[in-house]
Parts: sequence; C-alpha cells; structure tokens
Amino acid sequence: MSSQILLSPDGIRTDGRRIDEMRKVKMEVGLLKNCSGSAYIEQGKTKIIVAVHGPREAHPKYLALPHRAVLRTRYHMAPFSTSERKSPAPSRREIELTKVIREALEPAVLLEEFPKTVIDVFIEVLQADAGTRSAGVTAASLALAEAGIPMRDLVTAVAVGKLEGKVVLDLNEEEDEHGQADMPVAMMPNINKITLLQLNGRLTGEELKEGLEVARKGISQLYQMQKQALTMRYSATVQQEEE
Ligand code: UDP
Repeated sequence: MSSQILLSPDGIRTDGRRIDEMRKVKMEVGLLKNCSGSAYIEQGKTKIIVAVHGPREAHPKYLALPHRAVLRTRYHMAPFSTSERKSPAPSRREIELTKVIREALEPAVLLEEFPKTVIDVFIEVLQADAGTRSAGVTAASLALAEAGIPMRDLVTAVAVGKLEGKVVLDLNEEEDEHGQADMPVAMMPNINKITLLQLNGRLTGEELKEGLEVARKGISQLYQMQKQALTMRYSATVQQEEE
C-alpha cells in the first residue's frame, strides 16, 4: 500500500487505461527453429519468449513415468529483465513460479498420450513489468500447441487487482507494487476450468467474485488473440509450402 494515487476519481489509471482495459498485447507463434514449438508475447512492457522441447525420451531414464509424459517447466527472468539486475541463478520466486506454471498447464496437456517421455517448457522473461506468470502461461500454451502436443484446450491467463478500492484488469508493475491486491487467474476458456488462482493482498468475497468476472473477460480477449496467432502461424506455413 502507498499514498500514490493509482486511479483517478473518473476511473482512469496512471497509464491512461480504464479499469477493465487490458494493456496492448502482441503474440507470435513459431519464431525459433531449434525447438518443437515456440511463442512470444508482449503484454504492455512485459516481454516473454517460450520454447518447448519434446515429447522426447526422458534423461535420466528414472524420470520417465510408465503411463504418461512428464511436463517440466522453467520460469526464468533474464538478468536484464528487471530495473535492478536480476541474478541469473534461480531465486525462490522463480522456483515457485516454475511450479505454479507447470500446475496451470498440466490439466490441459494430454500427457497420457506420450508415456516415458519428457516435455520441456522454457519460459524466458526478457522484460518484466508485472503479469509475467500469467503472460508466461498464455505463451506457453501457444508453444505447446505449435509443438503439436494434443491439448484439451489452450490455457490463458491474466492478473486482476484492486486500486483505490476498485477491481481492475491486467496490472502493470506500478499497480502491482503499490495496489491493494494482485490476483493471477489462468483458465482453459473453452471448457471453463480454472487452472491457477492466486491472491496477494486482500479482497472481500464480493470483490473476489467481481475479480473472477473481470479476469474472465480479459481471458476471453486473450483467447481470441491466441487463436489468431496460431492461425497466422499455419497460414504462413501453407504460403511457404505453396511458394
Ligand atoms: N519484479 C522485479 N524483480 C524481481 C521480481 C519481480 O522487478 O526480482 C517485478 C516484475 O516487474 C514482476 C513484478 O515485479 O513482473 C511482479 O512480480 P510478481 O511476483 O507479482 O509476479 P508477476 O506479476 O510477474 O507474475
């Protein structure tokens, strides 16, 4: 909490957005060549690249499971991604985010189709301005789709928060740092299942319900963009093949 005014009396945020407005988002699928699938996302000033390897044989072999693939994730912030240099060694926060991102993606992936293999998802934060776990999840599901890994649905995520007592969509770093709450939500939008829900700060029961509704609206916009990014990727492939 701080004395800084993050929302004007007429509902305008410090970056000019309304309370239910997302930051500008850009997504691209298939930009790296040495992996099975890749995706890039920009959400405001947050910039993340994701690469997927696999499914491939598990090494060391004892990691393999007889009836399903193992999904491994790595969330990592580049040393130049934050205003103060971030040590390249994994922090406690990165270890936690690695786990929650894996748990957010796992319910969507048909792991049982690839027994004894490993699927690796590398999430590299190039520039952080809040919402990196949620943008990381959104991009990771695109990279998994590009890798041809069957999924029940894409996973799409966004954070909602509270500023001056009002629920708002898609926090930037200033709002995340000085606001009253930060609640990242990930969903499989088409099958309407939440796969990640965290809350930092305080919300009343009513605000929590409202937050979920606001998140759902943001997620639905992001989901359309994900489908568009995948379509672009495949129309580009058809064009290349025709040339
Ligand atoms: N952050 C930072 N340095 C760090 C960790 C976080 O500058 O070592 C910033 C970064 O912009 C990040 C934001 O704080 O996106 C919020 O971090 P949080 O842990 O809430 O996760 P996120 O919102 O990125 O999912």
